[in-house]
Amino acid sequence: MEILIDAIKRAKTTMFFTGAGVSTLCGIPDFRGPDGVYRDPDAARMFEIDLFDRDPGFFYSHADALVYGNSETRPGPVHEALVALQKAGKCAGVATQNIDGLHERAGSDPVFAVHGSAALHHCRRCGAQKTFDEIRALRAGVPGAVPLCEKCGGPFKPDITFFGEALPEEAFRGAMELAGRCDLMVVLGSSLVVQPAASIPLAALRAGARLAIVNRGETPLDRFAFFRADDLAAFAQAVQRSV
Ligand SMILES: [Zn+2]
Repeated sequence: MEILIDAIKRAKTTMFFTGAGVSTLCGIPDFRGPDGVYRDPDAARMFEIDLFDRDPGFFYSHADALVYGNSETRPGPVHEALVALQKAGKCAGVATQNIDGLHERAGSDPVFAVHGSAALHHCRRCGAQKTFDEIRALRAGVPGAVPLCEKCGGPFKPDITFFGEALPEEAFRGAMELAGRCDLMVVLGSSLVVQPAASIPLAALRAGARLAIVNRGETPLDRFAFFRADDLAAFAQAVQRSV
């Protein structure tokens, strides 16, 4: 880890790209891992936009544990480590595949949530907007309750990118812009298989940045990385020791 910490200290602009591994450290279930949510075929369909529009209750009945039960989940050691690096001027931005909002809650800025997040919800019919907390209040803790718009009666949907929806353009553009000008890209807890989000580290590599990867398990970009390790907790500890 000293090699990686040293590279972060010497880099001018370091960008971080994070995936599920960063959040599973805080007890949030992974989607695609060995114990992943997607092994439950029902849960795998909860993020299909066609199904949401036919039956929003299907999403909300499955989302209680995964999305709305997480409001008490606190940022984990990696989230905190990235904030510590930011305060030391060593984190220029975080792009994340995670939809749990924990980087934002920890205080990272900017965060490019390239698969969206549940921080905001919009009415599918009229576009009215509500925050996560407003939606929680509207659902009043009733299991599976669909939050309905007071103006038009339409269902609210979280700004998580569902299958069949385009990625949030602004977040993706911001991430690609930073990837194109960073000189160090550090991938944390992503196996880099979900496209097009995984193309962000590749864009950094193509623009001449050095690449480091900390992830349990192989990634398709391992052979391009000057540093490769498995243990995210060890990374977080090494950061806290050095800043
Ligand atoms: Zn509405």
